[in-house]
Amino acid sequence: PGGSVYRGRFAPSPTGALHFGSLVAAVGSWLRARQAGGSWLLRIEDLDPPREIAGAAQQQIATLAAFGMQSDEPIVWQHQRSEAYAAALQQLVADDQAFACWCSRNDLLRSNGLHQGPCVAAADPARTPAWRLRVPDLCIGFDDGLAGRFEQNLADDVGDFVLRRVEGYYAYQLAVVVDDAWQGISEIVRGADLLDSTPRQLWLQRQLGVAQPDYVHLPLALGPDGRKLSKQYAALPVDAADPLPALRAALGFLGLPAPLLAGAHTPTNLLTAATTRFDLAAIPQLPANVHLRHGMS
Ligand code: GLU
Repeated sequence: PGGSVYRGRFAPSPTGALHFGSLVAAVGSWLRARQAGGSWLLRIEDLDPPREIAGAAQQQIATLAAFGMQSDEPIVWQHQRSEAYAAALQQLVADDQAFACWCSRNDLLRSNGLHQGPCVAAADPARTPAWRLRVPDLCIGFDDGLAGRFEQNLADDVGDFVLRRVEGYYAYQLAVVVDDAWQGISEIVRGADLLDSTPRQLWLQRQLGVAQPDYVHLPLALGPDGRKLSKQYAALPVDAADPLPALRAALGFLGLPAPLLAGAHTPTNLLTAATTRFDLAAIPQLPANVHLRHGMS
């Protein structure tokens, strides 16, 4: 294959049914992949058993299929990927980038909950530590395909962040970087709620020596109260038995013209029609996204 094969992905956590915001991310990532003639991969981010809802992953997969979207390759399940995360952590420890940490929440209160530099708590071989990544006092930034330039000083804004929790679970930040690299993802399309995770992921990519994908952060779908539309504030049901209303709404949210959406009567026809017309520049930008874009300066 040539050097510019497009590989996109959708990576839901199985913490509940798909909601409108995750449908928008699924559709946006699917359209970008189809437009580029590339692949769209589904990855189930089931790394946090206590937050997982039994049956949610299978339900998400079935819902996506009812909406006309199926993974082009076997689905990747993060619960089967622990060895890869362990190897990445080991590499970071060997490079003196990651370290064991026994600090409690209480220990970090004086630094606003951030871990900055040396540990407060002493090592305690009798207890399992968390593992954290050292972060630099540097601005880490990137040019988002939609949100524009986004920068963060990791030391000031985030602190040394957790890669593996005391409970033994690997953190989202580590797993997402390891898997996006392993799957050869060339562009990540997801919701703007993850914009402020991206500098951490860029730093991890550099420390692990893997390629940096391109990023497109879609505007967040907001509830009537202006808060993020999530499981808690779900308004429009994403109903596998009746996909057309939510799919039309998601495509409308992504800037596709209503007449085009009115003319197609199956999910597959809608997605196919949308593929020819989808354009990042036509996505209506919401105030929340503007706020996020300038919020860090
Ligand atoms: N699993 C994450 C979530 O559902 C998304 C990960 C990502 O797209 O990077 O919020």
